[in-house]
Amino acid sequence: MAEFDYDLFVIGAGSGGVRAARMAAGFGARVAIAEDRYLGGTCVNVGCVPKKLFVYASHFAEDFHDAAGFGWQVDDYAFDWNKLLTNKNNEIQRLNGIYKNLLEKAGVVLIDGRAVVTGENSLRINGATVTAERILVATGGWPHIPDIPGKEHVISSNEAFFLKALPANVIIVGGGYIAVEFACIFNGLGVNTTLIYRGGLFLRGFDHELREFLAGEITKKGIKLMFNTNIKSIDKQNNRLIANLDSAPGKALNNAQTMETDLIMYATGRLPNTKGLGLGSAKVELNDKGAVVVNDEYQTSTPSIYAIGDVTDRINLTPVATAEGTVLANNLYNNQSRRVDYRGIPTCIFSQPALGTVGLTEEQARREFKNVEIYKSGFTHLKHTLSGNDERTLMKIIVDNDTDKVLGVHMIGAEAGEIIQGIGIALKAGATKTVFDATIGIHPTAAEEFVTMREPAG
Ligand code: NDP
Repeated sequence: MAEFDYDLFVIGAGSGGVRAARMAAGFGARVAIAEDRYLGGTCVNVGCVPKKLFVYASHFAEDFHDAAGFGWQVDDYAFDWNKLLTNKNNEIQRLNGIYKNLLEKAGVVLIDGRAVVTGENSLRINGATVTAERILVATGGWPHIPDIPGKEHVISSNEAFFLKALPANVIIVGGGYIAVEFACIFNGLGVNTTLIYRGGLFLRGFDHELREFLAGEITKKGIKLMFNTNIKSIDKQNNRLIANLDSAPGKALNNAQTMETDLIMYATGRLPNTKGLGLGSAKVELNDKGAVVVNDEYQTSTPSIYAIGDVTDRINLTPVATAEGTVLANNLYNNQSRRVDYRGIPTCIFSQPALGTVGLTEEQARREFKNVEIYKSGFTHLKHTLSGNDERTLMKIIVDNDTDKVLGVHMIGAEAGEIIQGIGIALKAGATKTVFDATIGIHPTAAEEFVTMREPAG
């Protein structure tokens, strides 16, 4: 008789957990997975997938407007938020079902409940004790809202996906992926949108020039950006919210001291989901943000317990969590010793226009390399010559002039995610600027600019 109930017990059926569970079971391991909220985790339920559907929804307003320059008359259009929510919810439900089928087909035992670790090989779930040779923590993250008076009146992105009605005005707090994406979504859907960020320019860590360019583009589209600003407290009066503003330390507040709005959404980062998981009982080390500390093998300080994805708070992206799940399952149950390559991970902020990026920013490249050359192209997309839309596109290539290697590629413009995904392959293959130049463009596309930039920008 086996010593343990399972070979692998996975806590959390999000992108990483499901991938690891399915693959491990496919390699013959006896696997269970516990989930107490929703199958597919953040990405499927309150993240990437519904967010992208909202991005499509919100972009139509601009598309209707653009159509006029091409001869279409689309004066009479209306938006139905409840229809969008119903259709989105049905699609998510369909995906939940697909996840359930995938797990069951792979032979994974799916347990609906909250698992708590009680020891290095044991857990409690739904009142029962379960044992496993290995435990995998894949519980993801959860929105973090700073502790300010009136925080009970605000929502996070979790609630934004289920609003009963679209507000007339919204304030979004934060300057990361979620804040920028949702500001564009609300703005596109006709909501009067203000983004408040504590620093001097949002999207810290991205290429500086792109951050400035995007700030300009989304301002043109109607989003009000308030940088160097914080909310110190929030009052509620007759269903209206009053945000009491404060300048960031050392900065003067240029704007009104208070702002009245219908809705305030905080997108001020996410914290690893480790509370109440019982990890202390198994002596699993957490860092000061509560993230599970792992080694290169995703092993925690307790060797039988592993962790992958956002709960480890490293690169918090769905494809990274699934890559980690794949590698872990292969290494543990398929005799391999693979590693995820964390260099050159392409990513996209689905703002409108979108910001796609892979590799080093100009600032990083100049710090790390002596002889950096920048190639740049800023232009109006062919489509907008007739649409009259004043949206601009920016593309940027960063090259190490000593080796000719392309260090980074960045873009703001339509379909930036689709374009940068392909460029990411070229960079992974070690492409040089000469390779970019030798590639024939597809004409007429915006992407062909990436293979026709001949003169460095200086
Ligand atoms: P981010 O970590 O990207 O951004 C958090 C933002 O909130 C930063 O601008 C930060 O400012 C600000 N902030 C943090 N604490 C406070 C505070 N106390 N008061 C005011 N502002 C504060 O988090 P998100 O919530 O936007 O997204 C979480 C993660 O999810 C992302 O990092 C990304 O990995 C992932 N994600 C990926 C997406 C994609 O691939 N398209 C889409 C959405 C999310 P500062 O910069 O000054 O620290």
